[in-house]
Amino acid sequence: MMSINTYDVAIIGGGVVGCAVLFELSRQGYSCILCEANPHIMSGASAGNSGMLHTGFDAPLGSLELACIQQCQSQIFPILQNFRIPFEKCGAHVVAWTPDEKEKLQGLLQHSNTALVSNASIISASDLYKSERSLRRGALGALYVPDEAIVDSNLLGVCFAHHAKQRRSEILTNCTVTGFHNKTLTTTQGFVKAAVAVNCAGLHGDTVDALAGVQSFDIKPRKGQYCVFGKDSSHILHSMIFPVPNERTKGTVLFRTVYRNIVMGPTAEETLDRSRPEPDTEVHKVLAQRASFLLPHIGHPIGSYVGVRPATQWKDYQIKTYPQIGWLTVGGIRSTGVSGSLGIAQYVSDSLKMDFDLEPSRGGIRRIQDVPWKVGRDGASVMIDGRSYHMAHPIFQFGHQKEQSKL
Ligand SMILES: Cc1cc2nc3c(=O)[nH]c(=O)nc-3n(C[C@H](O)[C@H](O)[C@H](O)COP(=O)(O)OP(=O)(O)OC[C@H]3O[C@@H](n4cnc5c(N)ncnc54)[C@H](O)[C@@H]3O)c2cc1C
Repeated sequence: MMSINTYDVAIIGGGVVGCAVLFELSRQGYSCILCEANPHIMSGASAGNSGMLHTGFDAPLGSLELACIQQCQSQIFPILQNFRIPFEKCGAHVVAWTPDEKEKLQGLLQHSNTALVSNASIISASDLYKSERSLRRGALGALYVPDEAIVDSNLLGVCFAHHAKQRRSEILTNCTVTGFHNKTLTTTQGFVKAAVAVNCAGLHGDTVDALAGVQSFDIKPRKGQYCVFGKDSSHILHSMIFPVPNERTKGTVLFRTVYRNIVMGPTAEETLDRSRPEPDTEVHKVLAQRASFLLPHIGHPIGSYVGVRPATQWKDYQIKTYPQIGWLTVGGIRSTGVSGSLGIAQYVSDSLKMDFDLEPSRGGIRRIQDVPWKVGRDGASVMIDGRSYHMAHPIFQFGHQKEQSKL
C-alpha cells in the first residue's frame, strides 16, 4: 500500500465543517490533508440543507453551538464578500398565528436578547404585512430578526477548500478512512501520518470515532425534506417565514434562496438511513399545501430534495479532544453547521494549541488572492482557477436550471 506524507493535521470528511477546519488551519500555517470518501467534497449532510446563516437568536443559551455561531457571525461576512459568494441578509420573521403563539413571542425575544442577538424586535401584524404583502392574512404579529441571512453554502465549502489548496493543503477524494493506529490513518489510498487527526465525518462521526477506539455519541440521523418552487413567484417573498417553534423543532420555514427559488422545509423526521433518501410524495404534498397556505399566489412546485442531519442523543455539538492518541472529534453538528462553520474551525485551532500543544509547522499567514468562480455549462459545477468543482447542493442546481418544468 502506498504511503502518504506526514502532516500536522489530517481531516476526515469534506463537508462544510471539514472544509472550514481545513481553511482555518491552513490559513494559520498548519500543514494539512483532508480525506473525503465520496468522489466530491460537500456531498454528505452539507448537500441537503437550507443554506441559512443563523444569528443564533434561538440557539440554546450557554451552548457551544451558540458560541460557534456567534464567532462565525463575527468573521464570515467579509469572507463572503471577498470570495463573491452569493448571500443576502434577508431577515427572518417568526410569525404568530394564534393568541397562544403571540404570547410566546415575548419569550423568544428575551431568549434572543440574552443570547446577545441585539437587534431582534417584536413587530405588529400591520408592520409584518408592510414588508410581506403577499403573506396570508390573519397573522397576529412576529418576532423580526433582521440579521438572519441566506447563502450558497455549497459554494462556501468549495471556496474554503479551494483557498486551503492555494495554501498548499492537500485534498484526497474517493479516499475512505478505514483505520487509525499510532497517529496513522489507514485509507483506501494509503497511509496518512499526522500529529492530530480531526474527525469531521458528519453522519459517520460515531463509526469513525470507533476507529480510534473512542465513543461519546451515537448518530441519530434526522431527515429534512423540502418542496421547491420556481422563480416566477420569487418577488412575493422577501424574508424567511418561521413558525413559532416547539420543544423539538423550529418547524418548517418558507424562504427564498440566493438563486430566487422559494422553498418550504425542512421537515424533521427520525430515520435509520444515513444516505440521502428519496423525497416522499405525501410529505411533498403537505409541504406544497403549507407553502400555498402561507403564500396563496405561490404557484406550482418544481421539485423537491432531502437532507439528513447528523443529530446525536445530545442537543449540543460534540467536540472532544483525545491528546494521548492525537485524535479530535467534531461530531453532532446537527442543524447549524454552515452557521457555525468558522466558529467550529476556530475552536479546533484553539484546541490544537491548548490541548495538543501543536503549533503550525509552516508559520506565517500567506495572504491569498481572491479567486473568481463561474458556473459550469451544465449548471452542476463551478470553475475556480481552471479547476472544476462539482456542486452537489440542490439549491445550486435548481438555481442554475435553464428551464424549470412543472411537476
Ligand atoms: C435538512 C437540513 C437543513 C439544514 N439547514 C441548515 C441551515 O439552514 N443552516 C445551517 O447552518 N445548517 C443547516 N443544516 C446543518 C448542516 O447542513 C450540517 O450541520 C452540516 O452539513 C454538517 O457538516 P459536516 O461537515 O459535519 O458533515 P457532512 O457534510 O456530512 O460531511 C462529512 C463528510 O465526511 C465524509 N466521510 C464520512 N466517513 C468518512 C470516512 N470514513 N473517510 C472519509 N470521509 C468520510 C462524508 O462522505 C461526508 O462528505 C441543515 C442540515 C440538514 C440536513
